Amino acid sequence: MKKIVLLGATGSIGQSTIEVVKRHPDKFRIVLASAHSRIDELLLYGDEISIDHFVITGENGANESEKTNNIHHGEDTLLSMLEEIDYDIMLNAVVGSAGLKYTVAGLKTGHSIALANKESLVMAGDIITELAGKNNCRIIPVDSEHSAIMQCLEGARDKSQVRKIILTASGGPFSNLKIEAFKNITLKDALQHPTWAMGDKITIDSATMANKGLEIIEAHHLFDVAYDEIEVLIHPQSVIHSMVEYMDGSIISQLSYPDMKLPIQYALSYPDRLDASAQNTDLAKIHQLTFYKPNFEKFPLLGLAYEVGKRGGIMSTIFNAANEAAVTLFLHDKIHFTDIPKIVEKELTVSNITSPNLDTIIEKDKEIKEKIYTNY
Ligand code: NDP
Ligand code: MG
Repeated sequence: MKKIVLLGATGSIGQSTIEVVKRHPDKFRIVLASAHSRIDELLLYGDEISIDHFVITGENGANESEKTNNIHHGEDTLLSMLEEIDYDIMLNAVVGSAGLKYTVAGLKTGHSIALANKESLVMAGDIITELAGKNNCRIIPVDSEHSAIMQCLEGARDKSQVRKIILTASGGPFSNLKIEAFKNITLKDALQHPTWAMGDKITIDSATMANKGLEIIEAHHLFDVAYDEIEVLIHPQSVIHSMVEYMDGSIISQLSYPDMKLPIQYALSYPDRLDASAQNTDLAKIHQLTFYKPNFEKFPLLGLAYEVGKRGGIMSTIFNAANEAAVTLFLHDKIHFTDIPKIVEKELTVSNITSPNLDTIIEKDKEIKEKIYTNY
């Protein structure tokens, strides 16, 4: 029985994780579940499965009836509980930079992390991977592409035999739209993802392809591959979740219908595989799988992600913070879709800070976001 801490339980990944746990009550138990604001949704899970502790990290206080022994409040409370309670693995499905401190807290206390919060690795990949190594913890990706890559690397005897990693991307809703039409994209258009149902932030990131940019940096840190050895390929069916090309030219891939329950379950059951509720992938019905190269002119955040990754230091923290702030502004109808990459690019014209520590990273994230919110 694995004891799980589930952070961001009310989100898209959180809800799918609850489904996975419900399917395997003999394998998984949630000892702590957190949400930021949706307290009612969080507590409802308690009717479906047994959860020892609930934590709400947002400002809105509990009403008196909610103040029972197992409902807790505040980020600091959560951080100290992470030091005290007994658990085996943390599934971090918090959205955005807010997830970083929890990834660090889990690793510091020697826990492996099933990581959906890719922003943790983008902001502080060097620090996190070093911490994981030092404390003998695993970072197991929940992101479908990285879960696929991990599976494709399972048989690799020697990493030097890997020629490149091929990250697939659905291309989002605008891959066939002419660049001239991008200025007319509305919030409603951008929230329509063709193949995946996800939280708002990552849905917009998929529409701008910032998500694939974040995933390039995530892959660099998770698998210790150079940026020039990570290629992005548009694959609109989202059936091949990513691939690894070996030095002899063989390409290994992992396939399934798009369903996040699969990589979530694999991250929790690793190194075992368990029966899944996912629909069997019927290749004859899918009929064809197509691929083409991404358009860097239409999706400038993709090229910028390679650039900040290669520059290293604080640059990917700035990229992530500016993107997060710009997406928030877009979700509140304050800027146009085409402003998102412009805002990010503008923030990157600064000198770098090499080897920033965690405090510098958190401070820079805050500074960039405050600056952008003040300017718009
Ligand atoms: P959602 O927006 O659906 O959910 C986010 C969760 O985080 C909610 O439980 C929310 O609580 C909580 N949360 C929000 N802000 C804070 C905060 N400041 N502190 C603590 N908790 C907070 O996001 P997704 O589930 O879509 O994504 C979660 C993470 O997983 C992201 O990093 C995303 O990139 C990654 N991911 C998601 C995929 C997907 O299919 N959705 C696929 C691959 C990766 P509340 O609901 O109470 O506000
Ligand atoms: Mg992904």
